[in-house]
Parts: sequence; structure tokens; C-alpha cells
Amino acid sequence: MRQISKIINVKLYALIIFLSLFYGLAFTFSDFYNSPFDNAKDFFILSLQWGVVVTATFGFLYLIIINKYIFAIVFPLLTICCGILTYMRYALQISLTPMLLDLAFVNDAGTWLENFNFLILILIIASLLFSAVCVYYRWKYITVKQPFIHAAIAISIILVTNHGILRRPLSQRIPYVIYYSLKEYINSKNIVQDTRNTFVANDASTQTDSLTVVLVLGESLRADHLQLNGYHRNTTPLLAKDSNVISFPNIYTNPYYTHTSIPHLLTRADSISPDRAYTEESFISLFKQAGYKTYWIANQESVSTYVYFMNECDTLIYVNGGKSLYIFNKWLDSDLLPDYKESLNDPSSKKLLILHTIGSHWWYNSHYPDSFETFKPTIKSRIVKSNTQEEMINSYDNTILYTDFVIHRFIDELREQNAILFFISDHGESLGEDGYYLHGEDRPELHYPACFIWYSTAYENMFPQHIQSLKKNKNNRYLTDFLFHTILDAADIETQYKDKRLSIINTR
Ligand SMILES: [Zn+2]
Repeated sequence: MRQISKIINVKLYALIIFLSLFYGLAFTFSDFYNSPFDNAKDFFILSLQWGVVVTATFGFLYLIIINKYIFAIVFPLLTICCGILTYMRYALQISLTPMLLDLAFVNDAGTWLENFNFLILILIIASLLFSAVCVYYRWKYITVKQPFIHAAIAISIILVTNHGILRRPLSQRIPYVIYYSLKEYINSKNIVQDTRNTFVANDASTQTDSLTVVLVLGESLRADHLQLNGYHRNTTPLLAKDSNVISFPNIYTNPYYTHTSIPHLLTRADSISPDRAYTEESFISLFKQAGYKTYWIANQESVSTYVYFMNECDTLIYVNGGKSLYIFNKWLDSDLLPDYKESLNDPSSKKLLILHTIGSHWWYNSHYPDSFETFKPTIKSRIVKSNTQEEMINSYDNTILYTDFVIHRFIDELREQNAILFFISDHGESLGEDGYYLHGEDRPELHYPACFIWYSTAYENMFPQHIQSLKKNKNNRYLTDFLFHTILDAADIETQYKDKRLSIINTR
């Protein structure tokens, strides 16, 4: 009995509950305030998610409060960090991501200093004062007996809330986003340091002096929703008008997640050796060997499964470093354009540009400007099931209309050059088939990504046989394994690692 009364320490619990709620309202709320919801049920789900974050915060504060010295150091630091993150969320509409850490630590420390202003200084001072009061109260009024039992309870709460489906919303929200982003960032750094000596040196070469190859990695775009492929809606009016676009409606991808699909697309991975996606270099290295300057321009987060390839490029640019999927304001692919144009202006005569787009990712309405809201009514709630199938498809199709516009802009920059552009989506998307939405479960519609190729007139004049093959092969069925070999062929690169039989522009 005495044991239990020692653990039930009213002042201790009152303080932790107060601090957890304070964190929940002052900080975590900033990650929820602009979540779109449509009805009371949505609101209830969002509140539950918020509750999970607050409970997890309770667990962590509980753990650090047990020892007064640890609390005196960790609590003020955590409060300052959360204060700054909350400021970023409200004022700048960005959240902490591994990309943002990369930008902060490596590429762009100057921008951070520019954003450091008087308001942040006040925030830090306020956080310190608040922390000082809490630490004082903890030292003066609370004694913790049985610290190990308390620690065991606290750790249990942390483990339960960081497990399974509960972890997903938690990992992207203040305060746990600090831990998860740092973890992913460090993990990515280790992967980038991997030695993957896949190709022997000086193996790849080209006879061509001047050529630009662009690879646009699409997102969640399914082939059968393209007007180009006979969809009943005009979702790709600009591309459909361009006679130099060849669409491939029958490409099959085995992987159906971004994380697994991108590495597969870029490497020699195939159904017999899928592990090559995680152990080998990509075709980017062969382009470099052949004298191409390589760029990766990212409008998506860097993920541990493909961060290696992003860093394989000579130049890596993030255009939206602080965007995360829990931010519901605009996150548009037109943001790629300035860096794309600048890279094209680089004097090097041979270039490979990889553009990783946000495309048709959920939450659809974020990924097209309001002026592209052609198909109506659109989705209103971020809870998938609260929207009708019609609304889901309308919003999804609007993203395609916008992708059509953005790709058209990419192409416009290439018209006067010797250039070829590949577009391939990482996977498709479920739009209500058998009640399934988005991409998660293995569903047939996820395996048919949109894929098309555009070429300039100069390219056609230089490689007429390539264009003939593409036109001849356009309706054939291919696995995405074709990309590695085809893009090398398109760039006129000779290497022992290219398997001509897998190239769809091979003129056998
Ligand atoms: Zn994806």
C-alpha cells in the first residue's frame, strides 16, 4: 500500500499533466490548426490524433521530470526548440523535415540567419522564463521516490504511443518530429556514405557532344487517367496537342510505394534481383562517367531508400525543404521551375536533370493552384472516407491538369535544344476501386503508372531511329526495368551495364 502511495504523487502528476496540455496547446496544435475537416466525425478523429501526441508528450515529460538535473537541462532546451518549430509552422508554413535539417546544416545556413528575427528572440526568452519557473517548481516542491518504477511507467507510455499506427501521426508532429527527423537525417547521412562501387571506372562513354536528358519522376499518377491514353476527361490538353509526346500506357511497376519504386526505377533492379535497388549505384553514375553533368531537383522529401541517388548527382537542390504531408497549404511543382531553368543555363553541354515532383500526391487540393480547379466538387476533408468518390476523383484529376501544365512548361524550355524528356510515375493510385483509396494495399490500379516521352526536333534529327522505335513500341507491355537501359540508350551512352534487350528505343 505504501509502495502505491509513493508512486501516486499528486504534485508530480499535476505538473506533468499541466505541461503536456501546455505543449499540446502551445506547440502541437500548430500542426493541426489548418487540417481540413468536414464534419463532427472528422473533428473527432483529428482530436484523437492530437490526443495521441499529447499522451506521448506526457510520457516523455514524465521520463525527464523524474531526475531534477535532467529536467533542468532537457526541459528548457525542448521548450525552446518547440517554440521555434511552432513559429516556423505558423509564420513560414514549414515543418521540421530531414531535408530542412540538411539545408540548415549543410547547404544554406545563411537563410536560417535571415529568418532569425526579433520575434524568435522574444520566443526564446519567453521559453526560458517559462522553463525556469517549471524547473524551480520541480526542484522546490516535488520529490520523486521509486524513480525506477516511474521510469518504467514513462517508458511504457512512450513505447506504446510510438508503436504501430499511432506512430505515424506522432512522428511528424511537435515535439516528436524533432526525434524522428533527426533520426531520419542521420540515417540518410550514413546511407550517403555507403560505398557502392557497382560500375568499373571509365566504362561508360558517348559520341554525342551536346544533349540534355530530363527525367521527371511523377507521383501517384495512373496511366488510365491521362487524356493521352484515352481517358474520357481532358486531363492533359497541352501534352495531347504536342505531336512530339509518345505515351506508354502499358508500363507495369512491381513496387507500389514511392520508397521502393524510385530506387527500382533508377537502378538495374529487376524482379530477379530486386535488392540491387539498395546495393547498387544508379544510371546517374554512368551518365557522369560519360561526361554528363547531373542534377537532382527535389520537390519531395529525401527518403533513406533513395537519398543515395540524390547525392550521386553533382548538384542536389531542394525546392521545398520544409514541406511535409501534414501541411495543407499549397505545395506546387511549379516551384521546380526556377532551379530547373537555372540548371539548363549551365554551360556544360551534356546534362541529366532529374526532377522529383509532388504530382498527384494526397492531399490533392494542395498540389494544384485554385485556378486549376476545373473538375468540381472537390474534396473537403483530409479524412479520406468523409469525401465522396466523385470528389476524390475530381481533385485527383485536377492535379493531373496541373501536372500537364507544369510538364508543358518543362518541355517549353527544351524545344530549341537537343533534348529528350522522360516522365514516369512511381506508381498509380486507388480511387475507390472496391472501396480502396490512395496507395497502401497491393491493388491492381497501383501497378500501372503514367509514362510518356517527349523529344525535341533536334533530337529526332540526330536519332531518327530512336523515335521510330519508341513509336513502334508504344503499346507494348514493359516492366519499369526498361528505364535504366532505355535512358542510357536515349543519352547515347555505351556501357557494358546496358542491356539492349531491355531498352525500348533499341533499334534491333
Ligand atoms: Zn509515390
